[in-house]
Amino acid sequence: MAPNVSDSTATVARCAADETVNADDHAPSSADPRTGRSRKRIGTIPTTTTTTTISDRNNNTSNDCDYVAASEAPFRAQIRWPDFMAQLFVHTGFVIGLALLVTLQVKLYTFLWTLLLVWASGIGITAGAHRLWSHKSYKARWPLRLLLMFLFTICGQRDAYTWAHDHRVHHKYSETDADPHNAKRGFFFAHVGWVFLTPHPEVVAKRKIIDMSDLEADPIVMAQRRYYIPLFALLVIAMPVLVPYYYWDERFWVAFWVCFTLRFTTTLNIAFFVNSVAHMFGNRPYDKSISPVENLAVAIAAMGEGWHNYHHVFPWDYKTSELGSYVFNITTAVIDCFARLGWAYERKSVPAEVIARRAAKCGDGTRFLTDEYAHQDAVWGYGDHDLPPEDVAAIVQEQQ
Ligand SMILES: [Zn+2]
Ligand SMILES: [Zn+2]
Repeated sequence: MAPNVSDSTATVARCAADETVNADDHAPSSADPRTGRSRKRIGTIPTTTTTTTISDRNNNTSNDCDYVAASEAPFRAQIRWPDFMAQLFVHTGFVIGLALLVTLQVKLYTFLWTLLLVWASGIGITAGAHRLWSHKSYKARWPLRLLLMFLFTICGQRDAYTWAHDHRVHHKYSETDADPHNAKRGFFFAHVGWVFLTPHPEVVAKRKIIDMSDLEADPIVMAQRRYYIPLFALLVIAMPVLVPYYYWDERFWVAFWVCFTLRFTTTLNIAFFVNSVAHMFGNRPYDKSISPVENLAVAIAAMGEGWHNYHHVFPWDYKTSELGSYVFNITTAVIDCFARLGWAYERKSVPAEVIARRAAKCGDGTRFLTDEYAHQDAVWGYGDHDLPPEDVAAIVQEQQ
C-alpha cells in the first residue's frame, strides 16, 4: 500500500469536560481559571516545538469547543514487512478457515469450540486489557486478574502491558499524530494499517511519558510480558488447535485454519472495528467535537465496547457506556458477576447529572432522543434556574 503521509496542517476540535469526577487516578488537581473549581488534570505534558498544539489540546481546561490550528512536520510511514507478512498470513488463513466452515468441512464441536474461544478471549480483552489494565475503571483480586490474563493471552493481541500502553496513548492523544491509530489518517490506517506501519515520531515520544507504573507493579502483567512468546505459542496456537485434534479427532489442518487463523483474525478485526468504525460511523451524544461515536453493531460484536463516544468522554467508567443494558454490554455483566463474588470491586461510574450536563453542553443532541434525562438541562435563557452556576459565573466574568 502507499505509505501514509500526514497533512502538513491539521485542525483539531475539542469540547473539554468541566466535571469533577470520581476517577481513581493520582493526577494532580488544579483550579479551573474560569470556574475556580478544583478539577482533575491527567498530567502535564512536556512540549516540544512541534507538539505545542497537541499538548495544549490535551491539557485544555476550557469549557468551550475550541478550534486550534496545528502545524505538523511531514512524516512518511514505512511498511514493517514482518508485521505486514504476519497480517497477510492470518488474513489469508481467515479466508481458508471461512471456506472450510461454509463448505461444512468442520466438525460441530470444532465450531462451538471456536465460538467459545472468540467469546472468552474477547472478555480477556474487554474486561481485562481494556477496562482493567488500560483504564483502571475497577479493581480485581489476583484470581480474576490471572483468569483475565489467561483469556487475554488466548486472543494473541500482544502482551497486556503493550496493549494498555498504546491504548492509554490513544485516549490521551486521540486524533492527533501521537494517536497510534489516529482515525484522521483514514479508515484503513485506523483499522489495520497502524499495525504494520512505522509509528509516527509523536507516538514514540508520547509512549515514553505515559505513566505505566501501576502495571509495572502488577506481577501478573509483568510475567505475561516476560514470557509472552512461549505463552503465545502455547495459548494462541497449540491449545486452540490441539484440543479439537485430540478430543474429537478433528483433522489437524482444519483445526489450524479454523481454531487458530480464523478465530485469531475474527477477534483481531472486532478489536480493530473499535478503532475504525467506532471512530467514524454513529452518533456523538456526549461530545460532538471528537471522532469516537456510539455504534450499536460494534457494541454487539465487541461485547459492549461500541459506545465509544461515551467511553472517550468518561474513560474511567467500568461500563464504558451510559445506557447500555447487559444485552449490548456483556462485559459489564461479566464484571458485575465477579463483583458479586468479591473478585471485582471499586467499580467506577459517572453520576447521571454529570453525564446529562456534559451531553447538554457538548453532545450532538442525539442523547436526548432516547433517555429519561431528555431536555433536563435545556434553558430558556439567562435567569433560567437550570442554568449551571459555573456558566453563570463565566457569563458574569465575561461582562466585567
Ligand atoms: Zn479505552
Ligand atoms: Zn478510541
